[in-house]
Amino acid sequence: LVSRKKKAEDTIVNVNGELIGKDGTSFVYGPCAVESYEQVDAVAKSISEKGLKLIRGGAYKPRTSPYDFQGLGLEGLKILSEVGKKRGLGVVTEIVTPGDLDEALEYIDVIQIGARNMQNFELLKAAGATDKPVLLKRGLAATIDEFIHAAEYIMSKGNENIILCERGIRTYEKATRNTLDISAVPILKQETHLPVMVDVTHSTGRRDLLLPCAKAAIAIGADGVMAEVHPDPSVALSDQQQQMDIPTFDAFHDELLKFMKQYDVVK
Ligand code: PEP
Ligand code: MN
Repeated sequence: LVSRKKKAEDTIVNVNGELIGKDGTSFVYGPCAVESYEQVDAVAKSISEKGLKLIRGGAYKPRTSPYDFQGLGLEGLKILSEVGKKRGLGVVTEIVTPGDLDEALEYIDVIQIGARNMQNFELLKAAGATDKPVLLKRGLAATIDEFIHAAEYIMSKGNENIILCERGIRTYEKATRNTLDISAVPILKQETHLPVMVDVTHSTGRRDLLLPCAKAAIAIGADGVMAEVHPDPSVALSDQQQQMDIPTFDAFHDELLKFMKQYDVVK
């Protein structure tokens, strides 16, 4: 169902009026984790001032250690929803278990399925049975074929609004947190009719690489860029090393807009 052979035209996913997959690049910015109303709202203010339509933030955080901050859960979804309404932003947030899905639906606009859950088939099927768009991340060590099959699980249950997200894969290379597989973008766009985004934050794990990698994503034809922004990364409860503070984010986004203009990328 997700194959280009089945459907030649590009799928366009409409989230809060943002047409992901149409004419150029969409942006999903926001903190790694929802920590408080004030924290999310500070980032949301900056996003909405740029005329953007989407915000991300994790309420259920899949952390490597059980002793690290696990997220605010339902309270976090409520914060996202309130801030989203106030600032006119659609909310993208990760759900980690089918049991949380029903309750979450009233607060969110896009169900994110994280790298660690790309082959959680019960979660994929449950998301596929909803009418919310799904942002599916590539697994930590998933092949492109496995990634496409995960999207197929979602669509097999009737949900056609799927956004694929390359977020780096595990290799022997230690210079970056993961290895951004930039060629996955054109391959996924050839093989499927779905929009493809690139998460520059989790793929690099390095603030100094966010801008060049976002430019590469845009240049290679990605439909969207995801990056993490926190009002004060030095006190963030997760991913301190890689989130941008707001002035850095402002400069990052300005630079991308300049780049897009220079190369005539629409949006
Ligand atoms: C995230 O986007 O918050 C996240 C945890 O990313 P990933 O699933 O790609 O590691
Ligand atoms: Mn993160």
